[in-house]
Amino acid sequence: MTNIKQSVTDPKRKKNLLNVKLIKREDITNDLLKIWIEKPNGYTFKPGQYCTIGINGIERAYSIVSAPYEKNIELFVELVPENEGGALTPLIWKLSPDDPITIRPRAKGIFVFNDQWQNHLLLATVTGVVPYVSFIRDYIKKIENHEVKNDRHKMHVLMGASYLDEFSYDEELKSAALKYPDLVAFVPSVSRPNESKNSDWSGTTGRVNMLVRDYANDNSLSPNDTLIYACGHPGMIEDVKEKMIPLGFTIDEERFWKED
Ligand SMILES: Cc1cc2nc3c(=O)[nH]c(=O)nc-3n(C[C@H](O)[C@H](O)[C@H](O)COP(=O)(O)OP(=O)(O)OC[C@H]3O[C@@H](n4cnc5c(N)ncnc54)[C@H](O)[C@@H]3O)c2cc1C
Repeated sequence: MTNIKQSVTDPKRKKNLLNVKLIKREDITNDLLKIWIEKPNGYTFKPGQYCTIGINGIERAYSIVSAPYEKNIELFVELVPENEGGALTPLIWKLSPDDPITIRPRAKGIFVFNDQWQNHLLLATVTGVVPYVSFIRDYIKKIENHEVKNDRHKMHVLMGASYLDEFSYDEELKSAALKYPDLVAFVPSVSRPNESKNSDWSGTTGRVNMLVRDYANDNSLSPNDTLIYACGHPGMIEDVKEKMIPLGFTIDEERFWKED
């Protein structure tokens, strides 16, 4: 496996790139995929940061699902088909275990867990849940290692998707909420409850940006003790800002793409 110190320079791009391999893939739906890639020796990151991976010189940013203590880097990727402008994701969809990928030597990003706040209202659309899974895995590990106490923070994950098969990390988050109810609350919500694909859904319905104000009210989350994080669809982020900033809330955001 590549060591950070042995990074190669791509002559065309003049950047240090490390060579790693795909460990495994898990197809969730036709357009959602989990992948695990080798973590280069010495590669460090904070929960919530992103890595930059590439194939054939095409590079894109991906928030990291895994926590820093894990052996491999786990990513959760949504396909943007070629006819909708996708470049790297159609190549990722063709990957098999052992196929080569590049990764830049350093993780980046400031969308990280902010322990100055007591409550963390974590809003996501589909792949936007990625940084929160990393926050929660990391925090639970620290509780189990007696490095932090269980009663200092509460993470409320409000996750929206069009269809119930897009939740993907729901079982993990439900288990975390059951095992650590003082640390994690998890509310998945489907935005298209009347479509036949969602006929088995009996949970919360509506877009997270439409639910956020009531959720904060019902759970006594105040602007003084609660940081709102919004990750994923830019339209969701804009609407949450419009609704919650006038109420005095502070919002951290991570946009995965720009709206035209
Ligand atoms: C900090 C950061 C973290 C990111 N983390 C993730 C992640 O965890 N998982 C993930 O799947 N993507 C993530 N992305 C988006 C990712 O970098 C790519 O843009 C995306 O995977 C599409 O790559 P592409 O090369 O196929 O298409 P691109 O050439 O990147 O984009 C083609 C077009 O599709 C739009 N687009 C990109 N992503 C989407 C989308 N999901 N839905 C609709 N339109 C889109 C772009 O704005 C552009 O117009 C992240 C982006 C940033 C900036």
